[in-house]
Amino acid sequence: MRTHARAVIIGGGVVGCSVLYHLARIGWTDLLLLDKNELTSGSTWHAAGGVTTLNSDANVSRLQKYTFDLYRDLEAATGLSCGIHHNGGIYLAASDGQMDFLKLIHSRARYLKMQTELISVAEAKQRNVLIAEEFFKGALWREDGGYVDPWLVTQAYVAAARAMGAQVQRYTKVTALNQRSDGSWDVTTDKGVIHAEHVVNAGGLWAREVGRQVGITIPLLAYEHHYIVTEPLPELAGLPREIINTSDFTGEIYLRQEGQGALLGTYEQAAVPWAVHETPDDFHNQLLPNDIERISPELERGFRHFPALSKVGLKKIINGPFTFAPDGNPLVGPVKGLQNYWLACGVMAGFSQGGGIGLVLSRWMDRNDPGQDVLAMDAARFGIFATPRYTRIKTEENYRRRFRLAYPNEEMPAARPFRRTPVFDRLRERGAVFGANFGLENALWFAPPGVEPVEEPTYRRSNAFPHVRAECHAVRSGVGLYETSNYAKYEVTGRGARRWLDRVFACRIPKPGRMAIAPMLNPAGRIMGDLSIATIAEDRFLIVGSGFAEAFHLRWFWQQSPPDDVFVRSACSTLTGFALSGPQARDVLQALVDEDISNAAFRFFAVREMAVGMSPAVVQRCGFTGELGYEIWVTPDYHLQLHDDLVAAGAAFGMVHYGGRAISSLRLEKNYGSFNKDFRPDYTPGETGLDAFVDFTKNVDFVGRAAAIAEREKGAARRFVTFAVDAPHADAVGYEVVLKDNQPVGHVTSGGYGHWVGTSLAVGYLPTELAVHGAVFAIDILGEHCRAVVTARPLHDPDGLRLRG
Ligand SMILES: Cc1cc2nc3c(=O)[nH]c(=O)nc-3n(C[C@H](O)[C@H](O)[C@H](O)COP(=O)(O)OP(=O)(O)OC[C@H]3O[C@@H](n4cnc5c(N)ncnc54)[C@H](O)[C@@H]3O)c2cc1C
Repeated sequence: MRTHARAVIIGGGVVGCSVLYHLARIGWTDLLLLDKNELTSGSTWHAAGGVTTLNSDANVSRLQKYTFDLYRDLEAATGLSCGIHHNGGIYLAASDGQMDFLKLIHSRARYLKMQTELISVAEAKQRNVLIAEEFFKGALWREDGGYVDPWLVTQAYVAAARAMGAQVQRYTKVTALNQRSDGSWDVTTDKGVIHAEHVVNAGGLWAREVGRQVGITIPLLAYEHHYIVTEPLPELAGLPREIINTSDFTGEIYLRQEGQGALLGTYEQAAVPWAVHETPDDFHNQLLPNDIERISPELERGFRHFPALSKVGLKKIINGPFTFAPDGNPLVGPVKGLQNYWLACGVMAGFSQGGGIGLVLSRWMDRNDPGQDVLAMDAARFGIFATPRYTRIKTEENYRRRFRLAYPNEEMPAARPFRRTPVFDRLRERGAVFGANFGLENALWFAPPGVEPVEEPTYRRSNAFPHVRAECHAVRSGVGLYETSNYAKYEVTGRGARRWLDRVFACRIPKPGRMAIAPMLNPAGRIMGDLSIATIAEDRFLIVGSGFAEAFHLRWFWQQSPPDDVFVRSACSTLTGFALSGPQARDVLQALVDEDISNAAFRFFAVREMAVGMSPAVVQRCGFTGELGYEIWVTPDYHLQLHDDLVAAGAAFGMVHYGGRAISSLRLEKNYGSFNKDFRPDYTPGETGLDAFVDFTKNVDFVGRAAAIAEREKGAARRFVTFAVDAPHADAVGYEVVLKDNQPVGHVTSGGYGHWVGTSLAVGYLPTELAVHGAVFAIDILGEHCRAVVTARPLHDPDGLRLRG
């Protein structure tokens, strides 16, 4: 038994084996993978092996494409087969909404350089003779994808890793993990103790239990899942090639050829979680009892949509468990507070995603940087709100919706309302339609009296459109009130706080009483955050950022090792607030404060503690709408009172409540990018324009400094731009392709309608040489090539006079 390894990977399913291979490939040869049983004996062995390259997140799609392409490389490197059936795939649409979805992913695929084509149902039938055409409206064909053999793929990963020096030890169970003071780990197994610098939890069905060994609760749960394999189908006999892998959204079915029969799997509505509290330790190479009754509604639909299947018997029925995170994407990356501990679990599509997970995790472990944007699979997208009960409810929703479309404006209803601020009921009484961000309810828009506060899910403009327009106009012409509690807030205090912040952030740290836009970079010079820092006192700072990134940023702060005289604390649940925006915002606030807040006395980007109405507050003069604005922060016990005081003072000025949808519109009119959508760890200061806020002159070696300077000297390869778009029916939502002479040249990161300026808007990236004011492009929005003109200066208040006035 070995006693030392640079990294111990716990779990020999397809994910752990991919991590092993990728670490070996970058030169980490002193590797040991442990499995408590046979390789693949968890979820992996009974998978259907289907591979698809398209995902609702473009960056995950890219990693899925990498995974698919990797199988050929693995075969070449090892001489072993992965059992690849390169059949490609089709998605069948049965409604206009589903057709819109296919058009959107076709546009995205062009940006991702993947081969897709919108085809007729008749053409789809040529590729899959089993389809009953009358149920469908159209289809999307994709070149990539097919299926692989689960066992062969895993063996190929291991063989390739072994050839590079990595080792695998089966029938060795990890029973305890103890961290030494230097951050390395004692990995206790039933065969002895191994000292490892790094530990990877790729425990699949048992990842929760492996997590408990270090005291963490991993938000995942396994679900039972069936597929059936039919007896040989006469329709398939003699065909020159296998039928194409087929996804049927309405049937909630996937189907592919298996031998001369068909394999049909379904995500049934009667979803059944498995091993809710504890995965049985001895559940290896086992299946669960079949429950055909449970999946019969979906099977009946499947037999109607693919009628040949009903004419033959069933050869095999498989019911096996595999794990899901609350949103269905994997849980990958480091864990705050646990040095050198890595997650690679919650993977519900190991054959589509396993390669990409291994790739990014190996880079992350090697250089503390996954090398590309992986926010959609980063475990830090969940915080402590993802309790086991929450996970139970959300994973069930996710399982049941696995083959349903998620519309861009759709808010998933399960486990809601959950996290609520004190004004939740007040806002609901005013017609608020809520969304959830990091589990916290926030108002998206307000339905006026007489209008039902419900938004129809669509890829086009929804019923919210006129109401959001009214909110935008009220903000631009009068004053509006927005609840900001869903922004993430952090307090950094202590004697060493300024010094530490100076190193962590690329901007100048403001003087007391002032605030600044604060880009945060990683060592490679990529954007880790676009926050604001307000210096309340010389040793007290309030940092505000994106709500969804709370755990992501807290983990990053922890990784920047605050010294003993610096205290970093999340204020996400301990500070609640409002933004006042609009030309009359000052009048409303002045009515509630004794201090002079005239422009001369309380300038743009000032911050001050003051009483607002009855409540002690911190007030910042800033906002995200491009208007004169204030952000007011109080502890939750004052939140309701603050709201009521603001409403009372605002009544004289016709103040309205506005929501997140209006913010999206108002900020696009100002060419403002937003972290998560537009600014992500794929982009740099020069590309995003955040270089304007980087202090290149400060005498501090801030994180990412060398890379930012190198980029400034060389020039950014692409630029963040705003487009005014001729889009009569629908607005861009993100990752649509930007075309020049029908060739892909760029992509959209977000879009919407500019209600004040009266045009559809999109923001995204273009090569620098093309990012010229007035240049004309086309954006493929739901199949229409819409004229898109670069507007280098914001269409609204280009000189920023209103927010400074
Ligand atoms: C019926 C069915 C059909 C599926 N079809 C597809 C499909 O078509 N396409 C697709 O991409 N995915 C499919 N999947 C999902 C796929 O199987 C999973 O995504 C994948 O297997 C997850 O692999 P894993 O490595 O994360 O976990 P697992 O395969 O569960 O492996 C975890 C390993 O960790 C080991 N382990 C756990 N704890 C310890 C410990 N303490 N010490 C040592 N070792 C430990 C276990 O022994 C096990 O071997 C399907 C799943 C099912 C059930």
